[in-house]
Amino acid sequence: MHPKHRFQYCPGCGKDTIHYHQDEGFFLCDSCGFQFFINAASAVAAIILNDENRILFTKRAKPPAADTLDLPGGFADINESAEDALKREIKEELDLELSSVEYFTSQPNHYTYNGLTYFTLDLTYICRVDNFDNLKARDDIKGYEFLQAHEVNMDSIGLDSIKLIIARYKSSY
Ligand SMILES: [Zn+2]
Repeated sequence: MHPKHRFQYCPGCGKDTIHYHQDEGFFLCDSCGFQFFINAASAVAAIILNDENRILFTKRAKPPAADTLDLPGGFADINESAEDALKREIKEELDLELSSVEYFTSQPNHYTYNGLTYFTLDLTYICRVDNFDNLKARDDIKGYEFLQAHEVNMDSIGLDSIKLIIARYKSSY
């Protein structure tokens, strides 16, 4: 659900006179002038390639799109670089250390958590690791699979943003 349907009271004065201005993307309170901007949160995704240039896909353990293929990644914390967020997420989810991280593409996305829609900007990087010895599925991941880009069944990818990223990768490499 869009924040404009959830944010009913002004955090500044507590009155119900806060309104969302669609074009500018911010809330404004008519009583006290409080403003709150809805910005895209930064998120990162990794296309991790092995020596045969197979992509490491993860299998989602939880909704949305549980049991479908995904790319590993997650949200950047405040005051964290995208590269550091990527390295942290890949360590948490797969116990892998990234040895190279190269920017590939970005994609705006929506993510609904606990009934509230978050707007994200997904930054995708092409990554390598020195070895996969420690590779294991942890955190929100129930498994993984190495696939050549051309052999990926797009219907097995659950999130539209990840489908777009893989389609873009297929046409670039
Ligand atoms: Zn107010």
